[in-house]
This record gives sequence, C-alpha cells and structure tokens, in this order.
Amino acid sequence: MENTSSSSDFIREIVRDDLKEGRVGKIVTRFPPEPNGYLHIGHAKSICINFGIADEFGGKTNLRFDDTNPLKEDSEYVKAIQEDVAWLGFEWDGLYFASDYFEEMYQRAVLLIQKGKAYVDDLSADQLRETRGTLTEPGQNSPYRDRSVEENLDLFERMRNGDFADGKKVLRAKIDMASPNLNLRDPVLYRISHAKHHNTGDKWCIYPMYAFAHPLEDAIEGVTHSLCTLEFKDQRPLYDWVVRECEMPNVPHQYEFGRLNLTNTVMSKRYLKKLVDEGLVDGWDDPRMPTISGLRRRGFTPESIRSFIDELGITVAGGEVDYKLLEHHARQDLNLKAPRAMAVIRPLKVVITNYPEGQVEMLEVKVNPEDPEMGTKQIPFSREVYIEQEDFMEVPPPKYHRLYPGNEVRLKDAYFVTCNDVIKDENGNVVELHCTYDPETKSGTGFTARKVKGTIHWVECKSAIPAEFRLYEPLLAGDYDEEASLEEQINPDSVKVAQGYIGVDLKDTRPQDKYQFVRQGYFNVDPKDTTADLKVFNLIVSLKSSFKIEQKTP
Ligand code: ATP
Ligand code: MG
Repeated sequence: MENTSSSSDFIREIVRDDLKEGRVGKIVTRFPPEPNGYLHIGHAKSICINFGIADEFGGKTNLRFDDTNPLKEDSEYVKAIQEDVAWLGFEWDGLYFASDYFEEMYQRAVLLIQKGKAYVDDLSADQLRETRGTLTEPGQNSPYRDRSVEENLDLFERMRNGDFADGKKVLRAKIDMASPNLNLRDPVLYRISHAKHHNTGDKWCIYPMYAFAHPLEDAIEGVTHSLCTLEFKDQRPLYDWVVRECEMPNVPHQYEFGRLNLTNTVMSKRYLKKLVDEGLVDGWDDPRMPTISGLRRRGFTPESIRSFIDELGITVAGGEVDYKLLEHHARQDLNLKAPRAMAVIRPLKVVITNYPEGQVEMLEVKVNPEDPEMGTKQIPFSREVYIEQEDFMEVPPPKYHRLYPGNEVRLKDAYFVTCNDVIKDENGNVVELHCTYDPETKSGTGFTARKVKGTIHWVECKSAIPAEFRLYEPLLAGDYDEEASLEEQINPDSVKVAQGYIGVDLKDTRPQDKYQFVRQGYFNVDPKDTTADLKVFNLIVSLKSSFKIEQKTP
C-alpha cells in the first residue's frame, strides 16, 4: 500500500541510516500478536508502524503469531487477527507461527547448555522470585546453578519427554544474579506445561518464554528491525544476549516506541476478554469495544484509523490520546464518502392538512453535496411525514427555532410548514401535529419572500421503513480504574436503542453501508443484527457541534 505519511521519526531515521550505511540490505519487520484475544486499536498502531515502515523503504513485513503460551491461545483468534490486519489494508509477506520454530528453539537451548550458558533449576516459582533480589539488592545464586553440562542436557531432555510435572523444573540462562538489570538475573527460558497447544497439540510439554522465543523468532525470519512497545526496553540487553549466545546467523535489533492509550478506554486484551467473558458486552465486536472488529462493526473505516495513527506519529513517550481525535478522523473521511439521507430516530407524525390527499410528489436531492459525482436521488413527499420528537416543543425556550405552535419551519428539501394544532393522547402526550404548508416555498424554486430560522428533517410516512437505531457513548463512564470492578465502571448510557424510520431511498442498503443522517450523525448498517425485516443502524459519530446537543435540556 502507498505510504501516506511523509513523517520522519526516530525509527525512520534509524532505518534510513542503516540502509545508507549498508548495515542492512532490505528492511524486514514483523507484527507479532499473541493469539490470545482480538486486536484493538493499540495494535493498529503497531501494525501501521511495522507495515508502514517496511512499505516505505521497499521492505517486507511478516505476520507472526507469537503462540508460545498454550493455555491462552486459540485458533479463533488466529483467524480474527488475520481478518483485522487485512481489513486495515495491509498485506503480509510471510505468515508464520512461533510454534513452527519449537524444534529449532529447543536445539538453540541445547546449544546454550553445551556452552555452559544455561542450566536446569529445581526451584519453585516462589523461590525463584524470592532469590531474584531487588533493584537495590543483588539476587542469590540457585543451589542448582552449577550442575554439569551432562546433567543439564539429560534433565532438559527429560523435561521435553514429559518426565516432570508442571512447575517442577525450569531452564534458566546463566548470566549474572547481581546484574543491575533484573532481566539478566538468570531469566527463565523454558517452563513445563502439560497443555494442549492450538497448533502443535500434545507434541510439546515444555514451552519457551517470551524473552527467549521472541529474539529467536525474529532472527529465524531475518527480521532487521524488531519494533515493539516501551515496556520491553529493559529486555533489550537480554534480547541481544539470546541472539548472540544462540549464535543466530541473522542479527535483528529491537527498538521501542510508546504504546497508544485512549481516554475512557480499556486497551488490554486481558480486560477486553473479561468484558466478553462476563457478558458485559455483545462479544469482541461489540460496537463499543476498542477492538478493530468492534470499530469495524461500529462503522469506522480503515482509512480513518490509519490517518488517526499517522497523525499521532511515532514518539518514545506514550501518553493518553483523546478518543475525540479518532472521531475527528472518522468524520473527515465519512464526510466525503457517506451518502446523505434522512432518518427519524424518535418519530412524531405530522399531517399537512392542506396537502392533497393521496398525492405523492418526488423531490430530487443531492446524494452528497460534498461530492457532485455522487449524483442525485428522488425522495417521496406527501400529506403525512414523520419528524423528530425533539424538533417540536409545545412551549419553546428562547432561541428555539424548530417547530412549535404558530411557528413556520422548512422541511428540508421540501416546503415551509406551520404548526396549527397539537394532538394529544389521554395522558397529555403529544402524538400528532397538524400543519399547513405553503406550495410557493418549495426548495430549489428560488422562493425568497419569507425566511424561516429552522430547517428540520423528515421521512414520508407511507413509504417509510421501520429501522432500529443504536446510539453509542463511551463504554466506560470515566477513566479506567484497575482497582474497581469492571461492571461498576460501565457507562449505563453507553448504548441507547430507538425504533424509528428510514426513507425508502435506503431500502436496498446492505450491512456495513454508511450514511450521514442529516443533523444526526454518521451511521453504519450493523452487519450482525440487521435482518431481512429490520435494518439496524449503529451511530459511528455524531456531527460536530450540533445545535441538538446544546439545546437538549432547555
Ligand atoms: P495487550 O496488553 O493488550 O494484551 P499485548 O502487548 O500483550 O497487548 P501482543 O499480542 O503481544 O499484545 O501485541 C502484539 C504487538 O502489538 C506487540 O508488538 C505490542 O507491543 C503491540 N501493541 C500492543 N498493544 C499496543 C498499544 N496499546 N500500542 C501500540 N502497540 C501495541
Ligand atoms: Mg501479550
């Protein structure tokens, strides 16, 4: 894909320099998700960086599943991740699984043992923690640290053969228990886990730790620049140690950038999974989720996500980004692409008493005033239309320019109407309005004799199609609090469902079609819950600075 950012940042500087100085021939990057959940918008940043940089410098990017933890991984996630990366608009060169390298990793571990650089330890997980030391105190050597090469080779093989239960033994690197970098205090390289792996089944009962596996995966694939998030910075010396001591022919280098965090958003897969498992959302692709699949179902476009991430650039510092910036990019993209249409979310019937009964006239309207090439369409108008409940007030506050008794407004693209009568039910609720229209005021005919201050949208009653509207707000009521229960943090208004109408011009809409409903916002046809009988529309983003918001509670 063409690179849209002309940005320069510290990683691009490094890459440029490495190419110029001949330190690398061709750039190879990778996006290495663990298939233990669906991707979220934070991952999109990593995807855009890895694929974006390789594209820009004529290199390659692999999609590699970092599947070294059998307990949490699943093929459902493997499939979903591929779908999401492709949807974002990126094509990977190689598709790999870390688990395909288990045999080679095992052999590299054997090499470390032979070189006296690794040993089998019998300490328990608790003991390992207790003997690790602190930032100010060195750790203690394990009593098993000086086992002979032969004994280590034998024990490691027996670990592989399944002779020991989970947790009974680990393989550790022999580096330095007094290192100021805690990651270098004889880190664990292999652990025992008698668990079924999504890819290798029961073939293995020992699994490499991330810190050992990741550099080997990169080296095996010939990755040149291993780009990851900042929390791995302190692991870099260990990364380099593994590559060097395992005598890998290709030497990758790790560089770190800041994680993306969004306001009011939980971004870790662990918590997103909790939301799904506890049934607090409608699956990973709930339109309120910050997952790629959730954003897609909500109606965000890949272009808007990519331009959002481009604008953030790559900085070392992380920091929290306002969700509104993502919405801004969605509006910018949809403004050009989304056809305009009228929909009434909370309907109120209007009868135009002086309009001939049985008459229907077709009005020609622009599909998208921002793009003349999108042409025009015809919409019906007749004696009865639905308007929005909130576009009428019996007792209007000052500066309310919409419909109220005696006031005249424009029905968008149609005529001026004046409200004469308010019909109520026995409880005093307004159920219908009686208006008159002025035939002279038809839109597009150049009528200028009178002006009105309000223009409201409408849908013709007889042809109107019932539709459901889902109006979203942030999933969390405030900033995420790790201490508090998730359930209590859910914004009770995060979804409101309303039954209203769309115009007949939308009768052939399909899942994932996007529209700007005039004055309401951008909406997406929900791909999951839309049926042949009922179309469901998800609010993607509201229109900016809408009058509606300021005047909602008079
Ligand atoms: P999480 O903590 O959400 O589960 P993770 O880092 O464990 O995320 P991985 O599947 O290991 O998820 O991530 C794949 C890649 O995506 C890694 O290189 C990781 O650094 C990157 N990544 C994950 N979250 C973010 C984020 N919020 N911003 C930028 N990059 C991210
Ligand atoms: Mg992870």
